[in-house]
Amino acid sequence: MKTISFEFVEHIPEKLDEGIIYVSLKYCTAVHKCCCGCQEEVVTPLSPVDWQLTFDGKTITLDPSIGNWGLKCQSHYWIRKNKIIWLEKWPDSKIKLLQEADQIEKEEYYKIINKKRVYRILCVNACIQILHLSSNLIKNCCRIIPQSRMGKVHFFSILAIAR
Ligand SMILES: [Zn+2]
Repeated sequence: MKTISFEFVEHIPEKLDEGIIYVSLKYCTAVHKCCCGCQEEVVTPLSPVDWQLTFDGKTITLDPSIGNWGLKCQSHYWIRKNKIIWLEKWPDSKIKLLQEADQIEKEEYYKIINKKRVYRILCVNACIQILHLSSNLIKNCCRIIPQSRMGKVHFFSILAIAR
């Protein structure tokens, strides 16, 4: 196989046609039948630490290369502008090194994402608490200051207390 076409889909179809890479942006994944013809399914998740897809309006490119080390065929190729560029099979030692490096990169990536998520949750909780406190303060102040005297001046002083 020298070229591959592509189809943008919402859901990856149950039955895949050979020579087509199905891309689901919704699920950030691309799936195709191995280009060597072995009929095995090859799933390439799209993420900063998996594969990156480039669509130039006419062709697609997947980065990095696809090494089907888990398949019997052990095929290795690049999809660049719909063309399949065949690459050599890597020795097992190189595959192992790459898999370890991939694992570390992914762990680091998800650590940062999780840290950001925790920080966001903390910020939101802090904001909710501050809002809750200020609304209680305003409510209490309103009780203390008689309704008739609730002019602009009082409103601002309440805000000052609430802050
Ligand atoms: Zn294959």
